Amino acid sequence: MADVTLKQVRKRFGSVEVVHAVDVAIADGEFCVLVGPSGCGKSTLLRMVAGLEEISGGEVSIGARVVNKLAPKERDIAMVFQNYALYPHMTVFDNMAFSLRLAKEPDSAVRARVNEAAEVLGLADYLARYPRQLSGGQRQRVAMGRAIVRKPKVFLFDEPLSNLDAKLRVAMRTEIKALHQRLKTTSVYVTHDQIEAMTMADRIVVMNAGRVAQIGSPLALYDDPANRFVAGFIGSPAMNFLPARVVANGSRVQMQLHGGIAFDAPATRPIEPGRAVALGLRPEDLAPAPEGLAALVKVIEPTGADTQLLCSVAGQDVTVLLRERRSLRVGDTLSLAPRRSYLFDAENGDRLA
Ligand code: ADP
Ligand code: MG
Repeated sequence: MADVTLKQVRKRFGSVEVVHAVDVAIADGEFCVLVGPSGCGKSTLLRMVAGLEEISGGEVSIGARVVNKLAPKERDIAMVFQNYALYPHMTVFDNMAFSLRLAKEPDSAVRARVNEAAEVLGLADYLARYPRQLSGGQRQRVAMGRAIVRKPKVFLFDEPLSNLDAKLRVAMRTEIKALHQRLKTTSVYVTHDQIEAMTMADRIVVMNAGRVAQIGSPLALYDDPANRFVAGFIGSPAMNFLPARVVANGSRVQMQLHGGIAFDAPATRPIEPGRAVALGLRPEDLAPAPEGLAALVKVIEPTGADTQLLCSVAGQDVTVLLRERRSLRVGDTLSLAPRRSYLFDAENGDRLA
């Protein structure tokens, strides 16, 4: 087991810097998820930890060792990728034993480790099968097995579930989480899927364009996003943002939305009148109330468990998630009061309140 520390880590491809001075400290035994949109630098960062990509600046440590100059196989890590090509001509046992045999481990040790991993992964009855005789989920488990048998200090995952169908993806993410609770090996898991990040992580690192946007526990990021990027990225359906201008500021921030509609929110710090802001409202925080914002219902989508509405509020599209069933029709007007709201600087996206 080991902690993983990134200090001011940078990556340049030629003259283009794609990872900018990233600082992350991952504790021993932690399950840390790197999440962000495609192209934000997640894989590049993970590959620098793995030793598959040269580090242009800064320092990566695993345990007490700075590993910048160490080859992948000297770093005591194991990686699981999206494209986990198994050897098609080898049985499950041989696929899982491959790296141990390569490392010239004695046969008895190989057998013990593969059997142990097969037991943990529910593959004990499949060891004699070939990959083509397995389901997608079982193949994914064999790929995990290949990583587990090496008893690495750190697991690195790069979107390991993206090739699976939706149902299997949900099942596998529970399996991986359960596996981590059992093995407690430090894990760094890359995904673009914020639900995967929220459900699996002890701590999430949200990345945006090669920078860390925020680090925190799933619920801390949801409840207390540091900026508009994190607020919009974490949570599903996504937070609504309404352009507004601050009119006055006392114990509450008074603002004007489009069309001169007045709205006020609790003030946590002074914001000067005249400032352009974005009012953030989560769909699930909006509920019908006698006094609130007028919302014209445009689309109604019942899922059974809840109902998603697309409404027009102050001239903007706003998503609303209703937990209770109500008889509603397109064209109705609701009055919506937010249970809580967020304020962001309109220009740089910093959280203001
Ligand atoms: P993510 O995994 O978050 O989708 P990547 O880490 O793969 O993103 O890529 C981050 C950025 O670095 C992207 O803009 C990508 O085009 C660029 N990039 C990745 N690999 C290379 C490479 N070998 N040469 C040049 N640019 C690269
Ligand atoms: Mg990637």
